[in-house]
Amino acid sequence: MKRSAEVVIVGGGCMGASVAYHLARRGVTDVVILEREKLLGTGSTGRNAGGVRHQFSNDANIRLSIESIALLERFEAEVGHAIDFHQDGYLFLLSTPASVEVFRRNVTLQRRLGVEVDWLDAAEAMRLAPGLDAAGVIGATFCGRDGIADPNGVTMGFAKAAQAAGVSIERETEVTGIVVERGRVARVETTRGPIDTTVVVNAAGPHARAIGRMAGIDVPVDPYRRHIFIASVDASLVAASRVPASRIMVIDFETTFYFHREGAGLLFGMGDPREPSTFDTTVRWDFLHEVTEVAVKRLPALADASISHAWAGLYEMSPDANPIIGPTDVGGLFAINGFSGHGFQHSPAAGRILADLIVGRDPGMDVTPFAFARFAAQASGGERYVV
Ligand SMILES: Cc1cc2nc3c(=O)[nH]c(=O)nc-3n(C[C@H](O)[C@H](O)[C@H](O)COP(=O)(O)OP(=O)(O)OC[C@H]3O[C@@H](n4cnc5c(N)ncnc54)[C@H](O)[C@@H]3O)c2cc1C
Repeated sequence: MKRSAEVVIVGGGCMGASVAYHLARRGVTDVVILEREKLLGTGSTGRNAGGVRHQFSNDANIRLSIESIALLERFEAEVGHAIDFHQDGYLFLLSTPASVEVFRRNVTLQRRLGVEVDWLDAAEAMRLAPGLDAAGVIGATFCGRDGIADPNGVTMGFAKAAQAAGVSIERETEVTGIVVERGRVARVETTRGPIDTTVVVNAAGPHARAIGRMAGIDVPVDPYRRHIFIASVDASLVAASRVPASRIMVIDFETTFYFHREGAGLLFGMGDPREPSTFDTTVRWDFLHEVTEVAVKRLPALADASISHAWAGLYEMSPDANPIIGPTDVGGLFAINGFSGHGFQHSPAAGRILADLIVGRDPGMDVTPFAFARFAAQASGGERYVV
C-alpha cells in the first residue's frame, strides 16, 4: 500500500468511486480509496433500490438529477460499464390537498429547469401502472425519464475506470484515525499503516460522523434503517395486468410505500418514521406486516405473491435531507455525505462537483445548499421528497 497520496478517499461506495473517477478525469490519479470491507459497494450502495428521478422539491437537487441522469444515460459509452438503466418513469401518488399543492409548486420548478413531468389523474395513473389501486388518489405526477439502474454497475464502473487511470483501491483497510496538524489534514491512519496526505474525502456513508470525529469535527449525519422486500411474481399476474410489466417506480407519497419490478420479481419498501436512528441492519420481519397492510391496498396482487427475500440498509440522513458536498472546517477534509435516501442517483454529479472543488475548479453551479457550514447558519431550505 502507498505510504503517501495526493488524495485519500475513505469509503468505497458509489460516492467514493465517483469522486475517484472524476478526479482521475481531471488528471489527479495519485489517489487511494480505502474500504474496510472485502468488496466495494457493500454498504448503503449495495442495499439500495436503484431508483433514479428528476422529481425533487428543490432547485439544487433537481440540478444534481439532471446532470446525473444525463451521465447515467451515456454511462456505458463514457465510463465503460453496463448499468442496466431502464427509464420507465417514476409515478408519485398524492392523496391529500396539501401534497397536491406542494407538488404543483415543485412541478413548476421542475419544468422551469427543463424536466418533462406530467400531471395525471387516478385513472391515468392506473393505466400507467397496471394492477395499481388508486383509491383515494387525488393527483399524480409522472416523469418518463426517471428510472431504475444497477448501483453495483455504477460503482464498479466508476471504480474500474479510476483504477485503469492509476487510482489505487485498498480493500479490507479500515481508517482508524485522521491526524490534523495546524488545522490541516496531515495523515490518515489505517489498520494497514499510515498514509501521508493533505486531502481526505469523507465518503463513509452512514459512518460519516465517525470519520468526522477522527478529525475533530461533527458531521451531522445519522443512520436510519430501511427495509426492502422482494416478492416472487408469477408470470400469470403480469399477463392478467395485475402487476406492471415495465419497471415503473410507483411511490405512494403519503405512506412512502414504493414498488417496482426487479428482474422477474417485485421490489417494495416503506419507511418507518417511528424507528430511531440505528446502525442495526437486521431485518425486522414484524415490520413486513405493517408494510403489507399498505402494500395490498395499493397493489392487491401482492396478496397472492410470496416474499422471496428481504434486506435492510441504512439511509444516511442529514438534518435537512440535503447532502453535504465540499470543504469542512478542517483544511483538506472534504465531505460527500448525508444524501438522505437518494444518494445513489446523485453520485455521478456529486462526485463531479467534489472533484472540481478539490482541484480548485469552478463547479459550475451554486453549491451553497450543500455547504457543510449551513448547519451552523441554519440557513437551508432542505429537501421535501424523502421516500
Ligand atoms: C434500503 C435503501 C434503499 C435506497 N434506495 C435508493 C434509491 O432508490 N435511489 C437512490 O438514489 N438512493 C437510494 N438509497 C440511498 C443510497 O443507497 C445512499 O445514499 C448511497 O448508497 C450512499 O453511498 P455512499 O457511498 O455515501 O455510502 P456507502 O455505500 O455506505 O459507502 C460507504 C463505505 O464506507 C466504508 N467505510 C465506512 N467507515 C470506514 C472506515 N472507517 N474505513 C474504511 N471504510 C469505511 C463502508 O464500508 C462503505 O462501503 C437507498 C438506501 C437504502 C438503505
